[in-house]
Amino acid sequence: VTKDGVPIRLMMNAGLLIDMPHLAESGAAGVGLFRTELQFMIGETMPTRRDQIAFYKQVIDAAGDKPVVFRTLDLGGDKVLPYARWEREANPALGWRALRIALDRPALLRFQVRALIRAAAGRTLRLLLPMVSHVAEFNIARSLVDKEIERARLMGLPRPTQVLVGAMLEVPALMFMLRQILRSADFVSIGSNDLLQFAFAVDRTNPRVSRRYDALNPASLTMIRQIVQSAEEAGGEVSLCGEMAGRPLEAMALVGLGLRTLSMQPANIGPIKMMIRSLNAGEV
Ligand code: PEP
Ligand code: MG
Repeated sequence: VTKDGVPIRLMMNAGLLIDMPHLAESGAAGVGLFRTELQFMIGETMPTRRDQIAFYKQVIDAAGDKPVVFRTLDLGGDKVLPYARWEREANPALGWRALRIALDRPALLRFQVRALIRAAAGRTLRLLLPMVSHVAEFNIARSLVDKEIERARLMGLPRPTQVLVGAMLEVPALMFMLRQILRSADFVSIGSNDLLQFAFAVDRTNPRVSRRYDALNPASLTMIRQIVQSAEEAGGEVSLCGEMAGRPLEAMALVGLGLRTLSMQPANIGPIKMMIRSLNAGEV
């Protein structure tokens, strides 16, 4: 809570089971971004559905009463599976990745969602779709999720009590469709790493140019302010889970811009909490 009484929710980013003990240690309010692709990237073969159910269940159990936002597979770009044949692309960051793969190969998304539905039986399941570029893409993926819930119902399988589906805002075009996406999505999470990379046309993985990537540039701040304002007008929920949330100066700016939920590496929770407690949000 800031000095002037504004509550700010600090969540942590995770991706593996070994990250989960940090939830209690850091005092995070939950997992704001669980990068499910990491589990797929560390193995030598594709995890089976049974492996996936067991893994997600362990994550949910480790979180106890705290929420976990599971991002569906964000593969492609700089995240390739060592065991999958991958076609070389001239511009992988702009190529066949994340939700684009999921929509072209729906079995992959369907199996993952099926495993998550099983693992979250009796609880709220929170899903987050990566790299949404159009509202239609989100709607197609959401209807696939709905079909899986219906399938579980028809088969008499245990289901979550509630399923919330969010969209990652990482592609600048989606900023201009925020009202529309918030009609279909339960929440929006700003992926500032990708959003800024695309907005500034700066490859975040290229050290020659990545230092030009300035999260405190007036253009970034204006962009984020606009997102927060449109979400407020639409009555939708928006948070931010990119690396800038974990840096005190940037996080201070984000609070000033109106964000109230930030998700970051667990090691950053302490310093950010200290900054928040000494901050007057109104002044910022
Ligand atoms: C982002 O783009 O800000 C994000 C959180 O996703 P990732 O870093 O996994 O691409
Ligand atoms: Mg991203």
